[in-house]
Amino acid sequence: MVADVHGESRVTASAYPAPSPEAILEAGPDALLVVAEDGTILMVNAAAERMFGYSRDELLGHDHRVLLAKGFRSGFHRLFFVLREDAWPPPVEAYAVRRDGSEFQGELTYSLLPQDAGTPAAGPASMAVTIRDTSRRVQTDAGLREAMSLLSATLESTADGILVVSAEGQIAGVNNQFVSMWGIPRNLLASQNDEAVMGYVLDQLKDPAKFVEKVTALYSDPAAESHDVLDFRDGRTFERYSRPQTVANQVVGRVWSFRDVTAARLAQEQITKAMADLAEQSAQLKALAFQDPLTGLSNRQLFNDHLAAALLGPYGTAVDLLLLDLDDFKEVNDILGHHAGDQMLIEVGRRLRGCVRPNDVVARLGGDEFVVLLVGSLDPDEVAGRIVESLKVPVWIDGTMLRPSLSLGLASISDDAVGASELLRRADVAMYAAKAAGKNRYLRFRPEMLQSLVQRTELETGLRLAVDSGQITVLYQPIISATLGAVVTVEALARWVRDGETIPPERFIPAAERSGLIVEIGTEVLLKACTELKPWLAEDSARRLAVNVSGVQLQHGDFAELVQAATASCGVDPRQLILEVTESVFFDDDGHVIQQLNALRNAGVGVALDDFGTGYSSLGRLQELPVDTLKIDQSFTAMIQTGTEKLPILSCMVTMAHGLGLTVTAEGVETAAQAEYLMGLDCESLQGFLFSGAEAQSALNSAIARSTEVFGTLRGGRVSETR
Ligand code: C2E
Ligand code: CA
Ligand code: CA
Repeated sequence: MVADVHGESRVTASAYPAPSPEAILEAGPDALLVVAEDGTILMVNAAAERMFGYSRDELLGHDHRVLLAKGFRSGFHRLFFVLREDAWPPPVEAYAVRRDGSEFQGELTYSLLPQDAGTPAAGPASMAVTIRDTSRRVQTDAGLREAMSLLSATLESTADGILVVSAEGQIAGVNNQFVSMWGIPRNLLASQNDEAVMGYVLDQLKDPAKFVEKVTALYSDPAAESHDVLDFRDGRTFERYSRPQTVANQVVGRVWSFRDVTAARLAQEQITKAMADLAEQSAQLKALAFQDPLTGLSNRQLFNDHLAAALLGPYGTAVDLLLLDLDDFKEVNDILGHHAGDQMLIEVGRRLRGCVRPNDVVARLGGDEFVVLLVGSLDPDEVAGRIVESLKVPVWIDGTMLRPSLSLGLASISDDAVGASELLRRADVAMYAAKAAGKNRYLRFRPEMLQSLVQRTELETGLRLAVDSGQITVLYQPIISATLGAVVTVEALARWVRDGETIPPERFIPAAERSGLIVEIGTEVLLKACTELKPWLAEDSARRLAVNVSGVQLQHGDFAELVQAATASCGVDPRQLILEVTESVFFDDDGHVIQQLNALRNAGVGVALDDFGTGYSSLGRLQELPVDTLKIDQSFTAMIQTGTEKLPILSCMVTMAHGLGLTVTAEGVETAAQAEYLMGLDCESLQGFLFSGAEAQSALNSAIARSTEVFGTLRGGRVSETR
């Protein structure tokens, strides 16, 4: 119905028949559609056919979304909700698409159609939508359209979930990806109950408070952009970007985009873990390269590095080296086997660690040699003392009790010793001095020690000439037979007489053994003794000559032949010869030493086990050894002081030896009380200063006479004569 308010052009209504509402709708310039709640087109007018290029039949009963450009197809349901809030909502801008695919911008107005009286209130609703082509309008923002189409094209194709929220905080749009990423039920989204949607979202997060905090912060600062990471309770991780949505420089809302980075994060975590594993492995490999595999202590290389670093430290910092070497470790290895040796080294390493601070370096340099590096220590002597003490506690290995002992050399940085090699050399010299001073102790380096080192090397060179120039002489010590009350055996003891000075065997025998010269010295002693004593031996076939033999000599395969040749050349009956060996000659034996001794015994030569009870002697092994006599070491004899004490170890040794068919000689008998005590234990022979020391061959007869005389004064000394 048209009415002119100005009157003059007023035309009366009756001049024209009143058109029907249908005709008006049909003739209207704007496209008009009726769309059911399920999106089906129920009605279109002619303008709609024209505008979209479809025939009526092609549209009716079809989904309305064919008419909307991509990016505008998902908002339909929301319009129903909008209408329930607001019967006359403002028009919306959208892009529509014609049958030929061309797009155009349009303005949509929409309203809810009243339902027929007959339909139940809850029945399906429908909506009238008018579309006006606004593409001819002056484009105020040419870029906008491009941006819009780009946006609409990308929105659905992107893997990101996108949510657009209006400035008023209402959800203005989402893409499908958003819905599926968050798993939001469609109807919940359509309900426009933003609080419920928010609740649904928050429920999935590990830290919902943080999420809310961010959202709140962004609403108070609409122009801000943000990026953060959301952790889901189910283990997923989303990246969240948010930027304002602006139209003509006006913030009209906010776009949130979410990207599922779970896979990327897992991959990253795997890489990080792999890198960490690799780093750990290489650290382990590196540690192994610097670690002594047996004890877990530092190795020589690492020690050298630490020492070099310590010496580069600030001037005045104390740097001390404690170099140590186990005493007689070879014997542990030889007697108990390498496994026991290893256990011993491990235990020693453990004890060393226990004696120092956690940061002090303890290294095994190889074999049974260890070193401790102390930096900034206030009292290195105290530490050295503690180490020596700590090793006195017995170690149990494979059921055997061992008492490790070590010799330790201590050297400290000083004005005249600043280099690593000088420090090490000094510690080494001090360690040797500790060994020479009787082992099982520590000594601090003193310059005089270098002097004795020089002497030691001089000794070794001098020893070479000693044999050739006849400086080795032999003394004889009588051994009295308690059963016969007479001296029937004498022991040959070597002496080195150099420039009128007599050097005791303790000083030169170890050097001779180290250099191998002991073979020549031993042969010399044997030949000299046989030659010098031949007349005395010839007087009585019961007389014997005992000669000491070093393990080094027995290592030579021709030892047995050599001995037999020597006796033969001197014209001495092999049955009058006794070889004194220590238990250590059997330690490393592969049967070869035993073989040689057996060969000699078959030729009538006797074998005595010298210094029994020292070192790592074992009564248990005794029966396997090819020996005839046991020589109880002086240290046991020295235990007898008053002669009234109970010494079960002594009686046990003697009983055991007798049980094995061996005779027993006690060494180092210095007092009558000792002699009587030992005779009381039924020791067959006695040797010691009580009777006589070692004398030259020329003084032997008087020494023997004196020995017999002394024996006669002993209580029980004459009993034997009556036997
Ligand atoms: P050994 O075989 O145990 O010899 C006994 C040592 O004890 C001798 O020392 C002897 O003088 C000493 N002695 C004897 N009676 C007593 C005593 O009542 N009290 C004390 N305190 N000591 C006594 P020596 O002659 O100095 O020999 C020391 C060691 O050197 C010998 O101990 C032996 O192991 C070794 N030795 C000596 N001569 C030779 C040799 O020709 N060859 C080898 N391989 N070693 C030898
Ligand atoms: Ca001996
Ligand atoms: Ca001895």
